[in-house]
Amino acid sequence: LIQPLTSPPPDSTLRPIRFDQLSDDELDILPHGVIALDREGRVRRYNLAEARFARLDRAHVVGQEFFARIALCTATPEFEGQVQGLFQGRLEGVARFDYIFDFRFGAQEVAIEAERLGEHVYLTVRRKRLLPPRTPGVARAPGVAQRDLAPDEPQAGVLRDGAGQRVIHLGPPFFEGLLQASARAGVPHDLLEECGAAWGRLSVVELEADALERFESVLRDLPMVTAAEFVSDYVRQRGWGRLSFDFAHTNKGAVVLVLERSPFAEVGGRPRGKTCDVMAGFLRSVMSHLAHKKLSVREVRCASEGGERCELVVVGEARRPLIDAALAGGASTTAEVLDVSRRAARGDR
Ligand SMILES: [Zn+2]
Repeated sequence: LIQPLTSPPPDSTLRPIRFDQLSDDELDILPHGVIALDREGRVRRYNLAEARFARLDRAHVVGQEFFARIALCTATPEFEGQVQGLFQGRLEGVARFDYIFDFRFGAQEVAIEAERLGEHVYLTVRRKRLLPPRTPGVARAPGVAQRDLAPDEPQAGVLRDGAGQRVIHLGPPFFEGLLQASARAGVPHDLLEECGAAWGRLSVVELEADALERFESVLRDLPMVTAAEFVSDYVRQRGWGRLSFDFAHTNKGAVVLVLERSPFAEVGGRPRGKTCDVMAGFLRSVMSHLAHKKLSVREVRCASEGGERCELVVVGEARRPLIDAALAGGASTTAEVLDVSRRAARGDR
């Protein structure tokens, strides 16, 4: 139905997506902001990308007055006036205009599309450039900050990162518990992998926001090596270990990922077999996003089995059964897995 995180063609007049027909989960994997306002100007829907770029927690945004409370800089004839025009029927179809959002942390050049869909006006917000704060006199009243919406959060045990998003410290006992309970309950590896993949799909929104801030570019337009380093930094800075990309196997249709100090592999300090399914799923989503196609990621060796590092193989989705068969057949090194699966693909033995 929707292609997550693909930019629509520039100046598209087709608008193939009706945002009011998308679920909240579907809105959350879009790379651009989506805001639904009711006739009173209250926020009714607010997706993850918008929350990330505005550095707000949407739980505190939904239900608030957009023009009067959340985004004071939009209380202008050019912005609020057009939204009102759509509600009142003075304007029809899609209103498109460029705008500059002012926040205390910076200004954002955005392209807006506004459309009446049912009881709401849907705003699509595409960031074009992220800028330093504008000078007083030029800047409009800044958008609200998370600490204004929820000033007592530190006392309430809520921590936030620099982008206003909630962070939770999880020590090794959490991972220990997850692995113990999964093993005891017989949770299939695929379920843990799928859990990681959902985590990865949502994290891609944050990665793209970070990339826009750092490179003024979407990840796909960066050279592969730059994008790979960027993802490695993201993983490392969050304490998930050191991720490196081995592109030496691309002629065999595979990329090899090496993960050192995986938190899943280190817990307990004893062998448990392969334990990094969640990471594999996360990396599947991120790699599929970078490559703009469906990929599979399988852990071939895990530090939890002994050894220094985890190795994961990334291949096209169609090849996953061959990789799984090679692993089930006892192939234990990355080179072996790639060779066996490649011979199987060609029909050799
Ligand atoms: Zn591992």
